[in-house]
Amino acid sequence: MNLSARESTVRGTVLVVGGGISGMTVAIEAAESGLDAHLVESSPSLGGRVAQLDKYFPKLCPPICGLEINLRRIRVNPRIHVHTLSRLVALSGSPGHFRAVVEHAPRFINDQCTACGACVEACPVERDNTFDFGMSRTKAVSLPHPMAYPPRYAIDEQVCKLGDCAKCVAACPVGAVDLSMKPRTTEFDVGAVVVATGWKPYDATRLSNLGFGTVKDVITNMMFERMCSTTGPTGGKIQRPSDGKEPRSVVFVQCAGSRDENHLPYCSGVCCMATLKQTTYVRDRLPDAKVRVFYIDVRSPGRLEDFYRKAQAQEGVTFERGKVARVTDNGKGSVRVTAEDTLEGLVREVDADLVVLATGLVPSTGPGDLPFNALHDESGFGVNDLQGTGIVFAGCAKRPLDVSSSVQDATGAALRAIQSNARRASHG
Ligand SMILES: Cc1cc2nc3c(=O)[nH]c(=O)nc-3n(C[C@H](O)[C@H](O)[C@H](O)COP(=O)(O)OP(=O)(O)OC[C@H]3O[C@@H](n4cnc5c(N)ncnc54)[C@H](O)[C@@H]3O)c2cc1C
Repeated sequence: MNLSARESTVRGTVLVVGGGISGMTVAIEAAESGLDAHLVESSPSLGGRVAQLDKYFPKLCPPICGLEINLRRIRVNPRIHVHTLSRLVALSGSPGHFRAVVEHAPRFINDQCTACGACVEACPVERDNTFDFGMSRTKAVSLPHPMAYPPRYAIDEQVCKLGDCAKCVAACPVGAVDLSMKPRTTEFDVGAVVVATGWKPYDATRLSNLGFGTVKDVITNMMFERMCSTTGPTGGKIQRPSDGKEPRSVVFVQCAGSRDENHLPYCSGVCCMATLKQTTYVRDRLPDAKVRVFYIDVRSPGRLEDFYRKAQAQEGVTFERGKVARVTDNGKGSVRVTAEDTLEGLVREVDADLVVLATGLVPSTGPGDLPFNALHDESGFGVNDLQGTGIVFAGCAKRPLDVSSSVQDATGAALRAIQSNARRASHG
């Protein structure tokens, strides 16, 4: 007998806002304990940022490993109700007795979709692919990514000509395209609310000294993840955006915006480990390329220290303690990185074919972005308010965390949701 079918004395309902790895974990753990879980995700599919990664540190396995196990637990559990393309638009009540109003945007594709792709072939409209940070294009009708759940296309109504075109309607062999779909709202009574809206990359164009947006061969760490992914814009090849050539040298710039009073005063927590992982991407694909990492200090807590040691031992990879002051076009077809070497007190100038900025994490939703009052810290991350509003935050909505810490945090949030529902039951 699977967990979802077992009898449980736990009763009640949780609303989980955000369907990344943290929100999925809250919904699964709560539902496998006996709660009903409404998982509300604003994008067309579950998975959040993890789905954009090429590999996970520290095991260096593809993200499909972790996501697939969780998606299977969701698929088999009748207590979990997944609402994609949906947003919480109103919340009233108090812990144990909330009423939530959720708005569902039209997907224009019904559940007959077999993801055959005939609609994409027929669609004449293109748009930037935000999943690849604009490094590729998709059609107005698209599958968010190859491992998307639900595995159904979605139409972007901002660019689609809808009834004025309708070529996808004619092309679909199973009648899955329905351009008459309208937004709708649903109301739920829930005993607990968990916010797991995660993070977004800090806007690198604000780091004007680091060349992003002005020097073509300067990209961010998340763009690099997509570039290295076999499902990404280059099919996994590392290329310079300016000319499509393989770089012979790559510089990673740590703390691009983080630990900087002018940008993000805090440490973004995962960027060091992400860069260590990304040095292995370069070594695997371009064994002759030279890799340099400019860092303030490398943060690889606990068991992750072993991963750091392995990355350091790679041939052709050097770590230099230095705060990067400037990234510019050197006028000779590559990029100049100027850094202050804080060990030797020197200013270093290094030329590279490609520069990757380890840009930090900022919360996806801050004060005022969701339709209720909740506590936030000075950087906009959520703070649990167990005595007041009762709203609980999980994963990167609370602070920058790696996947394993996000999952642990989300499991704790599921327990809070169970307790909140239990109090409601005991107080009637
Ligand atoms: C460059 C880089 C590489 C990384 N590599 C690794 C790695 O190798 N290993 C590792 O352990 N960690 C890695 N991380 C960290 C990892 O990305 C996070 O741990 C993980 O994304 C946290 O998941 P989450 O669910 O908390 O947030 P997210 O992944 O951000 O998911 C949040 C979800 O909420 C949805 N959402 C947002 N707002 C709303 C709203 N208003 N309503 C409804 N839904 C909403 C979003 O669409 C998204 O689906 C990396 C981070 C970076 C920057």
